Parts: sequence; C-alpha cells; structure tokens
Amino acid sequence: MKKHNFSAGPCILPEEVLQKAAEAVINFNNDDLSLIEISHRSKSFVAVMEKARSLVLELLDLEGKGYKVLFLQGGASTQFLMTAYNLLHKKAAYLNTGTWSGKAIKEAKLFGELVEVASSKDQNFNYIPKDYSIPEDVDYFHCTSNNTIFGTQMKSFPQTESPLVCDMSSDIFSRRLDFSKFDLIYAGAQKNMGPAGTTLIVVKEDILGKIDRVIPSMLDYQVHIGKDSMFNTPSVFAVYVSMLTLEWLKDLGGIPFIEKVNQKKADLLYTEIDRNPLFKGVVAVEDRSVMNATFVLTNESLKDTFDTMLKDAGINGLNGHRSVGGYRASMYNALPLHSVQALVDVMQELERKS
Ligand SMILES: *Cc1c(COP(=O)(O)O)cnc(C)c1O
Repeated sequence: MKKHNFSAGPCILPEEVLQKAAEAVINFNNDDLSLIEISHRSKSFVAVMEKARSLVLELLDLEGKGYKVLFLQGGASTQFLMTAYNLLHKKAAYLNTGTWSGKAIKEAKLFGELVEVASSKDQNFNYIPKDYSIPEDVDYFHCTSNNTIFGTQMKSFPQTESPLVCDMSSDIFSRRLDFSKFDLIYAGAQKNMGPAGTTLIVVKEDILGKIDRVIPSMLDYQVHIGKDSMFNTPSVFAVYVSMLTLEWLKDLGGIPFIEKVNQKKADLLYTEIDRNPLFKGVVAVEDRSVMNATFVLTNESLKDTFDTMLKDAGINGLNGHRSVGGYRASMYNALPLHSVQALVDVMQELERKS
C-alpha cells in the first residue's frame, strides 16, 4: 500500500499525475516516442509549455492582467538573486520570516542596499512580524508567504506602493489570494506543483526593464519572456508534470476547492495537537501554516515509541527540519484528508498507550 506522504519537498503528487507522467516517459501522446527524448521545440512539447502557462494564469485569476509566466531552472534559490538582479536599483525592503527569507536577503545584499523591515529571528521564527512599515523609496518589497521550515504562514500582505515580490514556493495554489496584488511571484515546483527541476515565475511585465544594470541573458527575465521560456532547453519533464498537476487542480475545482480541503486537513491536525496533552504546537497560533504543521512531543521519552508507531502506520516524512527538531507534517494539495486522519489516529493511540 502507498505510504501516507508528509514529505516537505519534493513531496506528494496526485496518483493520477504520477500515472500519466509514467506513461509519457514511455510513449508520449501515442507518438511512439518518450516525452524526454523529443525536442523541446517539437509541436507536442510547445503545446505542453503553452498549456502549463495558461493554466497558471487561469488558476491564479491573472488572465489579461499584464502578467507573464516562466518556467525556469535553478530553483527558488536562483530567484533569490534573479529578483534582485532584475529589480534592485538602489534599495529594497525585505521581511525576514526564516531560513528562506534569510537566504533571499543574503543574495540581494550583493546588488544594493537592503532594509530588513522586521524579523522574527528573536524567537526562532515562530511567528510572523506584523507591525512594520515599508520605506516609500524602495525598489520593491520581498516576503516569503509560507515558512516551510518553521511552519508559519502570512495570512495577510502589506499594502505598498512599491512592487510586491513574493516567494510562494510552499503554498502557491493552496489558498485564495488576490494574486494581482503581487508584481512578481516565484515558486520552486517541488512543493505544490510538480517534481523538482523547474521554478515558476509569474511577473507583471511592466515592472521589468527599469534598471540600467547589464544582466546576463540567463538571469534576465525579459530575455526569457522574449523566448517564451525556451531561451535554453527547459526541464521538459518537470514542466510536463507541473502541467498535469495544474490540470488535476483545475478539474477538482481550482484553488477555491483545494483551499477548503487544505483547511479541513489543517483543522483536523491542529485540533489534535491542541487537544492531546502529549503534543504541543511550535508556532504562534494565529500564524500557523495550513501547509506545514510543526509540533513537538511534550515528553521526549516517547519519541522512539511514537516513531515506531508512525512507521508501522505507513507514515512517511514527518521529521522536523534539522534546525527546528520535533515533527513537521507537510499537507500539500495532493495529500488526502485520510492521510491526516491516519496521523491523528496514531497520535491518539500514543495517548491511550502511555
Ligand atoms: C523549498 C523552498 C525554497 C528553495 O527552493 P529550491 O527550489 O530548492 O531552490 C525556497 N523558498 C521556500 C519558501 C521553500 O519552501
């Protein structure tokens, strides 16, 4: 039987997507060729890229609003520097909510002055700072919508006149947001959209081309836009599987549908964490992530017992990130409710046993 997969990333994908992806690797479109042995400029693959791009705009409700969609390589980590390369003229503002924001800040510092408007480092990033102001004269404001490692999530985003740039790697397509408030969104595919190997960028075209720095072609959004994400060979497999996942999501009812499912899963688990005296949540309740729930045992001596029970129940990927410890249940879009129920059952069984 397939395991309950709570892995933080790469992570669970819908079963039907895996099936179709497997078929395409052998025989794509009944062309008697594999998806990964045909030219990325073939009609078949160009259609995949176009479909993937249009599904992104449709699901995010950004059609006809001046946005371009790119599927590039180098992960979200390359976007840490690429955003700055393309947008940072003099000064940018960043909100520091954890490891990933910290890495984005480190890269951006190479390109100009950086204002850290707030940080939750004082409490090991277990909350989202709320009272801060963004200087008016910055080139953009950058934030991380969901803190994958610590398990916090921004529930609202600041109003700012400057372009709003957001790393949505671990919660894109998981909840309704007014995506048109963002000027640049990026996300590594491997958390909620597909396999590792491609990174989604959704950018409002009119924020580009405003700086005088010379940008190497591979790092220039405008170059990639001009070539429809085909300036160089794209990650054909990762783009294809992402397209399949986006199709799966659309058929289910899109973001409004999956948001309800995600909320149900998170409510089920957090209710148990709060009720069960053997467990304790790690982060501020109002900032809890719907995607990544972090928690610890109140009695560490139960760890081996609990870990064995998890293993016996076929629960995979629950170990917390090494910088936080404890447990982390990643409940991305493709994780079914019954997997969360299986976890809750084990938590209740541990309570009965001890
Ligand atoms: C996983 C993750 C990253 C890093 O993504 P890579 O594709 O490995 O570079 C960046 N930001 C967030 C929020 C993440 O969850």
